[in-house]
Amino acid sequence: MPSRSEKRKGEADLHVHTAFSDGVLLPEKVVEKALGLGLRAIAVTDHDCVDGIAPSVSAAEGTTLEIIPGVEISAAAGDREIHVLGYFIEPRDPGLLKTLQKMKHNRMVRMRGILANLKKRGVSVDEDKVFANSGEGTLGRMHLARVLKEEGVVRNTWEAFDKFLGDGRPCHIKHKRLDYRKCIELILGAGGVPVLAHPATMGSDEYIPAYISAGLRGIEAYHSKHRPSASRKYCRMCGELGLIATGGSDCHGVAGWTGEIMLGKVTVPYGVVENLREEAVKVRGSRERLSVNSDK
Ligand code: AMP
Ligand code: FE
Ligand code: FE
Ligand code: ZN
Repeated sequence: MPSRSEKRKGEADLHVHTAFSDGVLLPEKVVEKALGLGLRAIAVTDHDCVDGIAPSVSAAEGTTLEIIPGVEISAAAGDREIHVLGYFIEPRDPGLLKTLQKMKHNRMVRMRGILANLKKRGVSVDEDKVFANSGEGTLGRMHLARVLKEEGVVRNTWEAFDKFLGDGRPCHIKHKRLDYRKCIELILGAGGVPVLAHPATMGSDEYIPAYISAGLRGIEAYHSKHRPSASRKYCRMCGELGLIATGGSDCHGVAGWTGEIMLGKVTVPYGVVENLREEAVKVRGSRERLSVNSDK
């Protein structure tokens, strides 16, 4: 099977971050770069935030690029953190917006805790600088890592995670995460198609049957951190379980210390977008049937 990163023109990158979460590129720049690569579609999938969708759609208006409204929500499966992608969500869905707003508040409280942990270790960082770095969107550890680099505390963001912020490192505080069932329900409620993000990096495969029972419709088989053997495994799994195999670069603007722009490095044929769109129609159909039944 060819690696999905070999092709790109006319294809779709279904996992892209903007500056509305921890990506560095504004939606306009992401759109410009995607057009330059000849992509036919990208999904804007910011962490716990949908505010980057409208500016991306505006920037792509009148061009050949399609913007798929998406989101990447952090959730918990037992003691594991997982990420669930939601495709073709309605970005103005009140239930979704309410939960994302709550998550935004929790992230601010968490960041203050992480800053207090740093202070105990003799590293003082101006809270406003970190908040300014995240702008309007989702505040995360990457924003703090960038400030630590700017202030000369660390040489690069990798070192910030390695020394202080990474999972299990001294200053890390876990998110207050949504239970995976609530997370999947939230995406379905917003008319979206829930897809398990980069499973090879999360190590929660034994939960996949439970995710499916909760309403999961796909698995991100192709991802920049998936080896070809992992992609083959998840593709096979999708075939056996009747799920949609998706893929994307998980571009955050610039990657690590190489400075490489990942956009379009992992793509899937446009047919996958059509499958997701059809699935979203089914999700909305069953959601409407459910609400008609509950009226009775
Ligand atoms: P948060 O949502 O605040 O927990 O931060 C998660 C984000 O931080 C991920 O999406 C990555 O962009 C980044 N990240 C997490 N762990 C690392 C790590 N060890 N090295 C580099 N970036 C990381
Ligand atoms: Fe990220
Ligand atoms: Fe993720
Ligand atoms: Zn991502």
